[in-house]
Amino acid sequence: MDTTVVSRSLQRVIAGMPTSDGAGVKLRRTLGQGQGSRLDPFLMLDEFSSENPGDYIAGFPPHPHRGFETVTYMLDGHMRHEDHLGNVGELKSGGVQWMTAGRGIIHSEMPQQEEGRMRGFQLWINLPAKEKMKPAGYRDIPATDIPVAALDNGGSAKVIAGTLVQEGRSVAGPIQGLSTEPLYFDVHLPEGATFTHAVDEGHNVFLYTYEGGVQIGAAGAQRQLKPQSAGILSPGGLVEVTAEAGGARFLLLAGRPLREPVTQYGPFVMNTVEEIEQAIRDFQQGNFTQAPA
Ligand code: FE
Repeated sequence: MDTTVVSRSLQRVIAGMPTSDGAGVKLRRTLGQGQGSRLDPFLMLDEFSSENPGDYIAGFPPHPHRGFETVTYMLDGHMRHEDHLGNVGELKSGGVQWMTAGRGIIHSEMPQQEEGRMRGFQLWINLPAKEKMKPAGYRDIPATDIPVAALDNGGSAKVIAGTLVQEGRSVAGPIQGLSTEPLYFDVHLPEGATFTHAVDEGHNVFLYTYEGGVQIGAAGAQRQLKPQSAGILSPGGLVEVTAEAGGARFLLLAGRPLREPVTQYGPFVMNTVEEIEQAIRDFQQGNFTQAPA
């Protein structure tokens, strides 16, 4: 291995905070708890996980978004997406919904189960200023279209966005070519196994441990990230993560920072206060999803 490559260390931990959203769906939020807990271009990460229908049954009735992308990744359960464009998507275990709100989308995400476990994640990724008002887009990606790479150490990595490159092989995920160049991997490791992956030195990287704890960094300089926490990594060209006792499952996210001002009002994320005021006016006047004629 090239010894000039710096292994990223754990720089900051954001512990999961219980909250609720939509019509009362219980969530655990890490990124997005407040303005200081974003990681450009990532705005928010929520985990929902419950076997109690009372925690999820009310779902997310119709609501707007403008100025960014939402990515829903289901581990267990079944939700139906419907939006003003006429898209209807069945989001099932292992599937991903990648929605680009752009200028505006009005959608609902409603549980299609009355019992059993509902578990997954919603990630918000910012759009650059020049793309915030582009037409809305939506992709429903079933589990069968998301490749899973078997790792030499006995683990596996599901490649949702970007390309996994290791030891001369590459596995491309279904989401490619975005201006934030996201990597989105779901990595499963047995106890003691290490996942190593190169990342762009200029990109921001974080992990979310949804099962088990991990040690992050080069051997001898590791720091622990506990379960259900987001860990923001220092700059560097390499990510090294080792599973603690019992093994671990975590999301690995990397992206190109936009370095633009962020102004958020609920589900509207723009660059300036004026643009937020415009979004509210457009929503109230019915010009939200299309420019006035
Ligand atoms: Fe939504």
